[in-house]
Amino acid sequence: MSTYRTHNPSTGQTAAEYDGLADHEIDAVISRVADGFDSWRRRSSAERARILAAIGDAFSDRVDELAAAISEEMGKPTAQAAGEVKLAASIYHWYAEHGPALLEPETLDVSGARENTVTVEPVGPLVGVMPWNYPYYQVARFAAPNLMAGNTVILKHASICAKSSALIERIQREAGLPSDAYVNVYASSDQVAEMIADPRVHGVSLTGSEGAGAAVAEVAGKNLTKSVLELGGSDPLVVLDTDDVGELVDTVGRARLSNSGQACNSPKRMFVPDGIYEEFVAGLTDLYGRIAVGEATDEATEMGPLSSEDARDGVVEQVRTAVEQGAKLRIGGDPIDRPGAYMEPTVLTDITDEMDVYHDEVFGPVAMIYRYTELDEALRVANDTRFGLSGSVWGTDPDEAARVADRIDAGMVYVNEHGTTRAGLPFGGVKASGYGRELGRWGMGEFVNTRLRRVH
Ligand code: NDP
Repeated sequence: MSTYRTHNPSTGQTAAEYDGLADHEIDAVISRVADGFDSWRRRSSAERARILAAIGDAFSDRVDELAAAISEEMGKPTAQAAGEVKLAASIYHWYAEHGPALLEPETLDVSGARENTVTVEPVGPLVGVMPWNYPYYQVARFAAPNLMAGNTVILKHASICAKSSALIERIQREAGLPSDAYVNVYASSDQVAEMIADPRVHGVSLTGSEGAGAAVAEVAGKNLTKSVLELGGSDPLVVLDTDDVGELVDTVGRARLSNSGQACNSPKRMFVPDGIYEEFVAGLTDLYGRIAVGEATDEATEMGPLSSEDARDGVVEQVRTAVEQGAKLRIGGDPIDRPGAYMEPTVLTDITDEMDVYHDEVFGPVAMIYRYTELDEALRVANDTRFGLSGSVWGTDPDEAARVADRIDAGMVYVNEHGTTRAGLPFGGVKASGYGRELGRWGMGEFVNTRLRRVH
């Protein structure tokens, strides 16, 4: 039995301990959601939508309480935490509003039969393995479409999010979701593997690291169980031109520091043309020197701690290695000498393909700036990555920028913004960033049986 320990990364203190799931409880958990599936799937889609709407309402009504829990557990500054709670609410509401129509049968006009009808059926219990960086949003984008479709859920959240994951389950119950439609478990990786291998489980969705994704996909593959993976990214942000370097630096520099840089789709690599490169680097270095780093609950905080001291130490080590390998450190790079998981906002330049950071994801407050003369060369380097989550292009002519954006190999491309998430838009990547899509109608298409009925 594993114990889940939560720490407050703003203070470095242990917050709480939670008993993990016992091995002998696994069977009962799976039976519960398997039995629950039989009744949940038979509820009308309108009824399921009503419950999802009530969950969305509860998230909207309890923003402060929910935000406080993740500020404490993973260090997200209060305003950003509140924004995440509202985003999660919008996802439950979106599926409540659009879900029933997406589940309507479709009649196809194909000759040779009296009727060709396609229905959308749930597949059964699913396992969700979720990360700590957006504790409510990540769960919402998995749970909302699948509950709407009629599937049931076993949810294994990141162990550092034990409190917020329990809160999610409680809110769902209070909103009317049956206790056998969604079960939160404090499970170990081995226990997750056992659940995925169980024939009563019909799918698994994981958001997290490449290693965790590969481990889960391996078990899923062996058992012919469908999987969806949303993994890392090293998103390029390509600047074509700008009327105002200062404003651009402020926007993209702050975007990189959002959530202390711990977002799969953060603009980790910035490509800047020769003509404005020096001004851009100087501006970003100046900005990062002024960012107020502090406790998540302090109103003055612009950037909080990282999620844990281990996570912080890993990022510091990546920066040190980059500098040893020849990258230029413009500012930052060190842990901040105080209790908690703090790190200085960091700017790296002069990165080459012989350095580890050229190839790896840096999951922390580190902007990597690449100088370019030829756009073709910038795009070659932008695409020279094993990741393919998202990317953006910034310029004064949005049409031209859109044409350039189409040359980025990624699941999502943006013009003059980076990484916007909305309930109705698809989210997901290609290459080592994973497979499958979440959100919008695509998020409801992954774990369903698209069933044909042809009547002669
Ligand atoms: P992990 O991938 O380890 O954690 C994500 C989730 O997967 C957690 O619930 C974790 O559980 C679980 N998990 C880990 N290993 C396994 C396994 N073998 N089988 C089943 N479940 C597993 O992320 P980390 O917290 O270690 O972060 C490390 C890196 O992951 C980051 O640097 C970043 O690159 C990437 N990451 C990407 C995210 C994204 O949004 N795409 C989000 C978070 C991380 P537990 O917490 O109990 O270990």
